Amino acid sequence: MKFFPIFLRTEGARIVVSGGGETALAKLRLLLKTEARIAVHAAEADPRILDWQQEGKLIWHPRPVSATDLDGARLVYAASDDAAEDARVAALAREAGVLFNIVDNRADSAFITPALVDRAPVVVAIGTEGAAPVLARRIKAGLEAWLPAGLGARVREADAFRPAAEALPKGRARRRFWDDAFAGLLDGMPGPAPQLAPLLETHKAAATAAGEVLFVGAGPGDPDDLTLRARRALDRADVVIHDRLVPAPILELARREAEIVEAGKTGFGPSTPQADINGLIVDRAARGLVVVRLKAGDPSVFGRLDEEIEACEAAGIAWSVVPGLTAASAAAASLGQSLTRRGRNSELRVLTGHDVKGLADHDWAALARPGAVAAIYMGKRAARFIQGRLMMHGAEAATPVSVVENAGRPEERILSATLGSLPAEIVAAGLTGPAVILLGLAPRAAARSVPALREVAR
Ligand code: SAH
Repeated sequence: MKFFPIFLRTEGARIVVSGGGETALAKLRLLLKTEARIAVHAAEADPRILDWQQEGKLIWHPRPVSATDLDGARLVYAASDDAAEDARVAALAREAGVLFNIVDNRADSAFITPALVDRAPVVVAIGTEGAAPVLARRIKAGLEAWLPAGLGARVREADAFRPAAEALPKGRARRRFWDDAFAGLLDGMPGPAPQLAPLLETHKAAATAAGEVLFVGAGPGDPDDLTLRARRALDRADVVIHDRLVPAPILELARREAEIVEAGKTGFGPSTPQADINGLIVDRAARGLVVVRLKAGDPSVFGRLDEEIEACEAAGIAWSVVPGLTAASAAAASLGQSLTRRGRNSELRVLTGHDVKGLADHDWAALARPGAVAAIYMGKRAARFIQGRLMMHGAEAATPVSVVENAGRPEERILSATLGSLPAEIVAAGLTGPAVILLGLAPRAAARSVPALREVAR
């Protein structure tokens, strides 16, 4: 970050603008929304500046900025459309230790003004460090469309109600009240604003309720592949207990105050015993917290979901499951292939290469039949075993097999192999990320360059 965004107090501050033409006007329109006292310096001023002076909104000085004018000023805008004059004002500001902006000259400015979406007191500032103003405008347009016009009024009303809401215990209870107070507001369905007083009464009654556990599928790893329900669950979580496979960009979506626990690697032990994970889930929920148990892909696929649900049931804790996009779906999408196909396979098998006892046994005869399609999870190290079993049961060495590493993530790789070449290709590729093997499917020619495809899809 070359520029650090902050919100500057304008109440009682003085802001100096050098210039009286269009450039200065554009800045003044923005500055007049603040509570600052504004001084404009220009030999000649646009008639609108004179109007504003008449209305008492600013003071116009028909002379250039001097060092004494900057005494105690909070900000200076050099907006005279005259490069030499702007440089002179900037030098004075630097001397006086006042933050200055030279309009349209990012390189020489001490600060730059972001693009703004104004729903005061809610203000969104957008900056690209000047690198992509067109993009900043698009982001602004998107936010303008998203944030309802009445947002500011609702927030002011909430602010006034804040002392009353303190009747609720601090933390989760109060947060839930505010969640409901703003429900629908940002989902394109604002509806009528809820009456805060009766809503508060409902929440006071609910404040003594117990916690709950949400088993949430995080999808293959790209935050774009989270469901809206999963996002909402992350917004509500007091505690997030996640698998090693869930990447940082998804965890960053959790509430900032949420406790984040990795169940699977360092911190909680190299491979956390299931009983410890169950214990942690139950403990936090029993304290009345909302626990999100975040699992890669879909929680019901090789995720020990039942064991954790059973632990909740045994402890009398409420739970629910939020499904996610499983790795096989993301991998098939990247191959550009259908997992089922009329006349080829009317069943799809989902297998693991490993189970608790080691290499997993399967119905090899069925899997060896021509046209069979299977998604094999955790199969990298079992590839040679799987190959041997399938060929022993009559599978062709030429059967197409694809391996998709980091499916659905930016670093995704696809290996297009055959059953005969599979183990050697896996070794040669040196796969380090999670990979799913799709038996019976080859990448469709057009989908071979998958990174390019994903770019287009965005
Ligand atoms: N519940 C997960 C699977 C967990 S088991 C799901 O539904 O996807 C862990 C295995 O899942 C990994 O060994 C790998 O085979 C597969 N896997 C998970 N995420 C993956 C990804 N992004 N790309 C490829 N395989 C993945």
